[in-house]
Amino acid sequence: MREKIPPNHLVVFGRPGSGKSTLAERLGSEFGYTLIRTGELLRAAIRRQDFLGKRVEAHLATGDLVPDPLIFEMLEQHLKAPGMQKFLFDGFPRTMGQVPLLEGFEKKLGFQIGAYIDIAVSHAEAVARMTGRRVCPICGATYHLIGKPPRVAEICDNDGARLEKRKDDTPEVVEFRQKIFDDYAVPILRYYQEHAPERFFVVDGEQPLEAVYAVTVRALGLA
Ligand SMILES: [Zn+2]
Repeated sequence: MREKIPPNHLVVFGRPGSGKSTLAERLGSEFGYTLIRTGELLRAAIRRQDFLGKRVEAHLATGDLVPDPLIFEMLEQHLKAPGMQKFLFDGFPRTMGQVPLLEGFEKKLGFQIGAYIDIAVSHAEAVARMTGRRVCPICGATYHLIGKPPRVAEICDNDGARLEKRKDDTPEVVEFRQKIFDDYAVPILRYYQEHAPERFFVVDGEQPLEAVYAVTVRALGLA
């Protein structure tokens, strides 16, 4: 059964550098979707130091990934909380192993994902975007060689300091994060494209951000 448009439950996908998280935040604030990010929930659980949080912390302390059953438990607790009528998953499912977890939630909690959105950016474009980021070590201003260049190459407009890359923007780290997406997320996209084609939307993420947002809003029937 197809959920009525506009949908109340969304999943947003996009590779690092696609602008996916910014878009998810904007959908959240303009249309009232609660953002669900497993990384944030895991950190919050650890801060609470409840039974769940202690087990999450124990896994992370040994360098393990948090196992899917624990992710399931954490998400279930969160989804059952009051006020969770309209929400958006940002970064879940992260692996094919988590796809049945989401299907399990839909059955158990009685909702259906109304739209899977893929903010599509090529590997090469994502790498160019991520390696083009610069930050001023003095005032913290951020630049982008393509999107928002300083007036003088590699020099801060505000104070003349030489711009730096962020620590996690080295070519190795950027390439590694893309590879994780290629290996783990691309199969998920293929799966939904095949199994839920009427709810799967590809948005060209290489347009200006404003256009990406407008196309997404239209595709979802929000405007
Ligand atoms: Zn500066």
